[in-house]
Amino acid sequence: YGKLYICPTPIGNLEDITLRVLRILKEVDLIAAEDTRHTIKLLNHYDIQKPLTSYHEHNREGKGKVLLEKLIAGENIALVSDAGMPGISDPGADLVKLCVENEVTVEVLPGAAAFVTALVASGLSTDKFTFEGFLDRDKKKKKKRLEAIKGEDRTLIFYEAPHRIRATLQDLKQVLGNRHAVVARELTKKHEEILRGELETLEVHFEQKEPKGEMVLMVAGANPEDRKQKAYAWENLSIQEHLTQ
Ligand code: SAM
Repeated sequence: YGKLYICPTPIGNLEDITLRVLRILKEVDLIAAEDTRHTIKLLNHYDIQKPLTSYHEHNREGKGKVLLEKLIAGENIALVSDAGMPGISDPGADLVKLCVENEVTVEVLPGAAAFVTALVASGLSTDKFTFEGFLDRDKKKKKKRLEAIKGEDRTLIFYEAPHRIRATLQDLKQVLGNRHAVVARELTKKHEEILRGELETLEVHFEQKEPKGEMVLMVAGANPEDRKQKAYAWENLSIQEHLTQ
């Protein structure tokens, strides 16, 4: 049998790729990518020429079987997604499951993931946290999920699209009450921005300023003590901007 290598790629800054990921991408027989056009740019940047095939949300069932057959036949395959760690809020997890069920070795290479980067930058508690990924687009299902986690005392982490962030901040405030919250935007990119405040101040901010770019939203867990610990003025929005190199 061949091996499936899970290869994390940068979430913005092209330097955020490990030496091992680059070596494995050069050594494998085939690279399965979420968006081949996107991945070609990365491969060109690092002068890597390899056969590419697509593996994404819409072909994962059929393509998963094809890739499994190749692995069983002895090919080594690298899986990359558009950004960060494959398998975190993208179809990679299905391929891992298929390999595990068919006794194909899966080797995960460590690397960038947006939620870890965001959480550490947030200033919220990192002792215990829960990753919620994307909330459901369906309003009812979204509210139901928020109701289910309103008592959660761990830091909550969400992925959210810019055109939904205002509605989500509003829904969160309504169901969980106003809490400390942080939006980490465009991490590792030129216009990286960390907005620390409360659900309400963030909502006001995004009413005045059109939300743009990729973002991770984090909310303090349900913890009455937290409201008393004002390490710094969370009630005022603080914006940390970087112009990263
Ligand atoms: N597999 C990826 C990972 O390891 O984080 C996540 C893939 S998911 C389809 C894409 C979402 O990740 C975006 O909508 C955004 O919420 C978050 N994200 C990705 N890159 C980001 C960045 N540079 N800054 C902030 N959030 C980012």
